Amino acid sequence: MEKILAGKTGIVFGVANKRSLAWACAKSLADAGMRLAFTYLGDRLEKAVRTLAEDLPGSVVLPCDVTQPEQVNAVFETLKEEFGHLDTVLHAIAFARREELQGDFFHTTKEGYMLAHEVSAYSLTEITRAALPLMEGREGSIITLSYIGADRVIPGYNVMGIAKAALEASVRYLAADLGPREIRVNAISAGPIRTLSASGVKGFSERLDAVAERTALRRNVTAEEVGDACLFLAGPHSRGITGSVLFVDAGFHIMG
Ligand code: NAP
Repeated sequence: MEKILAGKTGIVFGVANKRSLAWACAKSLADAGMRLAFTYLGDRLEKAVRTLAEDLPGSVVLPCDVTQPEQVNAVFETLKEEFGHLDTVLHAIAFARREELQGDFFHTTKEGYMLAHEVSAYSLTEITRAALPLMEGREGSIITLSYIGADRVIPGYNVMGIAKAALEASVRYLAADLGPREIRVNAISAGPIRTLSASGVKGFSERLDAVAERTALRRNVTAEEVGDACLFLAGPHSRGITGSVLFVDAGFHIMG
C-alpha cells in the first residue's frame, strides 16, 4: 500500500482486543505509514493492548481512563515527548451499564445516564482539548465512532443512543471551533459488528442477522471496512470534509 500517512502520528483510544473497531482502524492507519500510540483502560487490558501494539513497530502504549482528567492530560504530556506533534486522534470508546442496555429506556437512572454520557460523549471534547496543543499547524483529523441509534430508536440501545446523539452534535460544534485551525472533526457511523462492547447490547446477535437482510448491500459491514473509512478521514483525500457523520453501514441508513 502507498504510505500516504508516512511521517504522521496518531493516537487511538479504545482498543480492548483484536476485534475492537479501534484496532481495525489502527491497522489501516499503520499500513499507510502512521506511527501510533494506544491507550488501554485498567491493568486488565494492558497486556492485550501491548501484545497487539508489538505488531506495529514504534508504537507507544499508555493507560487512560477517560473519566480521570489527569490521566487524559498525562497521555498528551507523554506524547509531546515521544512524538512532539500529533496528526490524528481516534476516539473509539463507549460505555453504559449493561442493565441500562435492555428493557425500557425510561428506567434509565440519572447515574447511568451521566456515566454513559461522560465516557461516550464528553470524553471526545476533553480529549480534543488536551490534544490541541500537539495538533496546531498540522492540518490534523479527529475521528470518533458512532451508531445509527443516535438517529433512530434501536431496541436495547437506549441511553447509548442519547449519548451517541450528543457525540454527533459534539462533532459539529468541535468542527466549527477547530475549522479555523485547519483541524477536521468527523464521525463514522458504523453498522453492527461483533465486538466486546456490542455483546453488552441485549439482542445484538439477532440484530446482526436482521440488519444483514435489510442493508442495501444485503450484508453486514466488517471492521476492516470501518478501518479503511478511518484511513480516508485521517488522510488527505478527505481534506474538504469536516463536521460530518459518514455512514459505513452497507447502506442500512437509506433503506425504508
Ligand atoms: P470494544 O472493542 O469493546 O471497544 C470499546 C472500548 O472503550 C474498550 O476498549 C473499552 O474498555 C473502552 N472504554 C470503556 N470505558 C472507558 C473509559 N472510561 N476510558 C477509556 N476507555 C473506555 O467495542 P467496539 O465495538 O470496538 O467499540 C468502539 C466504538 O465503536 C464505540 O464508540 C462503539 O459505540 C462504536 N460502535 C460500535 C459498533 C459495533 O457494532 N461494534 C457499531 C457502531 C459504533 P473496556 O472493554 O475495558 O470497557
